Amino acid sequence: MKKWMALTAAAMLLGGSLGQPAHAAPASEADAKEAGAPEQRRAAYGQLSLMTGLDWEQIAALDQYERTLRKARPKARPKLGSWAGLYASPEQWSGATNPDPSDRNPDSIRFFGGIGRDGDGDGKADPSSDIDLLYAQASAVARFGGTADDFSIGVWEFYHNQRAVQRVNQFTLLYRTFGRLDLDGSAFPVPVGTDYSYRSTWGTARGWGGHRTHEGTDIFAGHGLPVRSTCYGVIENMGWNAYGGWRIGIRDLDNRYHYYAHLSGFDKSLRSGMTVEPGRTLGWVGSSGYGKPGTSGKFPPHLHYGIYRDRGMIEWAFDPYPLLRQWEKAEAKAKKARRGR
Ligand SMILES: [Zn+2]
Repeated sequence: MKKWMALTAAAMLLGGSLGQPAHAAPASEADAKEAGAPEQRRAAYGQLSLMTGLDWEQIAALDQYERTLRKARPKARPKLGSWAGLYASPEQWSGATNPDPSDRNPDSIRFFGGIGRDGDGDGKADPSSDIDLLYAQASAVARFGGTADDFSIGVWEFYHNQRAVQRVNQFTLLYRTFGRLDLDGSAFPVPVGTDYSYRSTWGTARGWGGHRTHEGTDIFAGHGLPVRSTCYGVIENMGWNAYGGWRIGIRDLDNRYHYYAHLSGFDKSLRSGMTVEPGRTLGWVGSSGYGKPGTSGKFPPHLHYGIYRDRGMIEWAFDPYPLLRQWEKAEAKAKKARRGR
């Protein structure tokens, strides 16, 4: 395996490409605070569940989806409340034909077809109120009914975007499975302390497969080292892909797509649509890809790891290297702390 380590500098192997070319986006996890305290949000979702008939997990998922849209386009979708996610333009809130775009009267807003609602009972449909924002979004979606299909129709009617429907359902499943809102733990994709190497190769030119830039980080290691989920998420794709070989793609609550390629195989208990948690074994390091299903050994074994952010209609790759360093450090620190006990 040492000889492969020496090849790290030479090999720029891409696991596959999604959507847009490489683009540096801020790799931040710092906005957990901005989302408000989980206890406060959980209580509000429970209250809104009673008011709309949706499950709290569905309301939480709608709210979180809006938060991820704002993170992707902060200028176009400024924050209206103090922690609720929903962004609505004045025309959406008050109604497109409303002569008063700053109308706060729930009755006239309703008359002009605006989405603004009074959720906190102060007689005003106020977009600076978190509860009014949540109520506006949840009641717009809930009017199609309470079944899972009705919910999907409601989300479709609200966003007119199939990606939005998929995301909100994935987020709902995550909240249902784990029963809580704070699902932002992390893990390094291979066991820390084992024999592997990686370095920052973001955007470097490469000559393999015709892609212009390298969208991700290659972690070189021997065949068979476990590949683990870096996050809480839902398995969105799993199977063969021409460049990535055996690859798995996982969606997290931050609307990021984590892409693991060139695996030698998958953990047999996993299926598309299942949830995973940080550190969960997904498969093993291999050298699959660049050919028909099963092709292997055309390059040194390594994990290609990429992260993409969904911006609503398109996805951007961003450099996972700083996050990898951060997760590796956190895990090494946690290991050391356990040993010290
Ligand atoms: Zn790669």
